[in-house]
Amino acid sequence: MKTKHIAYILLAAAAVVLATIFFWPKPAKERGTIISSSFIGMDFATAVTGEATAVLPLLPPNADMHDYEPTPQDVITIQKAELFIYIGGESESWVERLLEDNEISSDKTLRLMDFVEPKKEELKEGMEAEEEEGEEDEYDEHIWTSPKNAVRLVNAIRDKLTAMNYADAKTLEINAKRYTDHLEDLDKRFATLVQNAKRKTIIVADRFPFRYFVDEYGLDYYAAFPGCSEQTEPSAATVANLMHRAEETGTTIIFKTESSDGRLARTVAEVTGAQVRVLKSGHNITADDQSSGKRYVDMLEDNYFALSEALN
Ligand SMILES: [Zn+2]
Repeated sequence: MKTKHIAYILLAAAAVVLATIFFWPKPAKERGTIISSSFIGMDFATAVTGEATAVLPLLPPNADMHDYEPTPQDVITIQKAELFIYIGGESESWVERLLEDNEISSDKTLRLMDFVEPKKEELKEGMEAEEEEGEEDEYDEHIWTSPKNAVRLVNAIRDKLTAMNYADAKTLEINAKRYTDHLEDLDKRFATLVQNAKRKTIIVADRFPFRYFVDEYGLDYYAAFPGCSEQTEPSAATVANLMHRAEETGTTIIFKTESSDGRLARTVAEVTGAQVRVLKSGHNITADDQSSGKRYVDMLEDNYFALSEALN
């Protein structure tokens, strides 16, 4: 009888120890870093954790995510991370390679494209086609440019961090909601802006990573190159088409993205008497925006003002 009693006590003690190991929240100090391959994953994870230093981007400000390849040191950084967030499009095929080779673990990886409806890249009339063949059948990776998608992505990061017990669930929820509230407010304002606009077409004399954005609000567009095109030298026909469309729509604004030199936009604007403005894609943050503490929602605020001018 006595041995049985001791056995029960030992079992109970073992159960308490196991429960402590498995269910005790990890103290903050032991938490690893969250690594993101892009600015957008970093921005959203920062919003959810509420800690700017908890997430590190692999790309420095201004760097182009389209030509990025990880260094051996970057791979080690990803391996050591508690969570690695990536977009999952064509520009990041290096991540799929690392996963296939078991260099990184899929459990500690979050692919953002899994949480939205992906669209195929579009080659719009007058747009410069890419040189490689079969490219037009790729999925467009710029999923975050739609504020509605951005809400889905923030919530996906919140759910993953909650499941990992990264931090207190309530805190993660409150942080995520603060950010998605701002995104939802922007979404409503963009919808109203386009609804009441004089013009519903934008001219982007640049790459066009805004497909998800324009589709969301029913905007039409003309652009020089598809979203992730490596080409930056437009043909005479592409330039002529943009000038023609600018005149046809009577627009006073020609857009360029934040990462281009804007030469093409200036050429089109000079001929048609328009002005050049920046439409921010959020591929990365510019050094200027970073030093003024801008977040992705602030870039969308900037876009809101630029679009108000272009559409009215
Ligand atoms: Zn891109």
